[in-house]
Amino acid sequence: MRGLVVIDYTNDFVASDGALTTGEPGQKIAPALLQVTKDFVARQDFVVMAVDGHDPADQYHPENKLFPPHNVIGTTGRHLYGELATYYQQNQDQFYWLDKRHYSAFCGTDLDLRLRERRITELHLVGVCTDICVLHTAVDAYNLGYDIVIHQDAVASFDPVGHEWALRHFQNTLGATLV
Ligand code: ZN
Repeated sequence: MRGLVVIDYTNDFVASDGALTTGEPGQKIAPALLQVTKDFVARQDFVVMAVDGHDPADQYHPENKLFPPHNVIGTTGRHLYGELATYYQQNQDQFYWLDKRHYSAFCGTDLDLRLRERRITELHLVGVCTDICVLHTAVDAYNLGYDIVIHQDAVASFDPVGHEWALRHFQNTLGATLV
């Protein structure tokens, strides 16, 4: 069985005025990311919407020292970006919304349980940033024994060097399939 995790495709990470935006590279992948999502929904495969949720007043969170406030709980910056938002609203029962607090969608969440109870062994990843949240999710998936598939036209980063490095890392070090 296969599952899809859509990572952090929100206004703050993608919109031109987003708090921590990938900008144009993030916006360019919108059609491909939406298409992959629709394909999985059409086949009734498990689709997870993994979304950062932060509280800037949380003094214990390490990201608060590294990045400006982003994906703050209760703000529109945390809403899904563009057409994906509409598609999600119209098909909400086809998705599993996953609030995450760290880069990896596995960190401190029940994602692994949700995948295992569905006998999912092949995990497809799309979203942003290639070299941060997608990377950390892929590393955890690797350590948990999942087969990883990265849709390279549906991942993006604000950092082109990091993006290219991460794609090589997925393939050469995590044994991922790039499609
Ligand atoms: Zn974050």
